Amino acid sequence: MRILVSNDDGIYSPGILALAEAAAQFGDVRIVAPDVEQSSMGAAITASRPLRFRKTPISKFDAYRVNGTPSDCVALGLHLWGGADLVLSGINLGSNLGNSTWHSGTLAAAKQAVLLGTRGIALSTPVEDDEPEFTELAPSVTKVLQLLIPRQQPRLLNVNLPLNAKGMKWTRQSVRHYDGKIIPDKDPRGREHFWFTVTPLEKAEQGTDRWAIENGWISITPLRLDLTDEAALSATLESTGETPASGR
Ligand code: MN
Repeated sequence: MRILVSNDDGIYSPGILALAEAAAQFGDVRIVAPDVEQSSMGAAITASRPLRFRKTPISKFDAYRVNGTPSDCVALGLHLWGGADLVLSGINLGSNLGNSTWHSGTLAAAKQAVLLGTRGIALSTPVEDDEPEFTELAPSVTKVLQLLIPRQQPRLLNVNLPLNAKGMKWTRQSVRHYDGKIIPDKDPRGREHFWFTVTPLEKAEQGTDRWAIENGWISITPLRLDLTDEAALSATLESTGETPASGR
């Protein structure tokens, strides 16, 4: 089994090495990841300049650093390797819950895999002030991969792993809103600049990814790429008397 490993924290993140080491128990691993941090880049692709890669051995692994986004890395990685059976992304330094699904480069790498017909699993861990202890997290990562790898479905998964988890929960994405405040400040030369801040506004809904992590569980959320609001589409078609366009 060929497993392509990527991330958005950059190829030198301790999280990607931890993930590659866990993945190596299940198949041949190749790392293709951004040369610098690309967190919060979402599913951006590089279309206005060329992509390049350089071989960068990471520990015992065959690894390549790319001057692009997580989505670029997955597309280029699958192209150069002639495909893979699975794409793993992470382990992100910081959880990816609820609204992060929209902004996360970690998740975007897994989504890019699914867009290209390969299974994609994103893994993230909450971080406090210190970097997470990946040696302590390793048994949980292995357990999650043991559960998920043999299954062919779901195709796209978002996994968040707290340290010392009580167990695993299958969850849905929290849709809690955040305030998204823009905080103005001044740089050392007195010029104005801004920080985008994300502060959740509502409590986590039971059964969601955020709820699971707040309660000490590993959260596994199946995701899909089709964002169509089926209920709204049906209701609109019904109210206008139109018949659904074919194509599904
Ligand atoms: Mn990141």
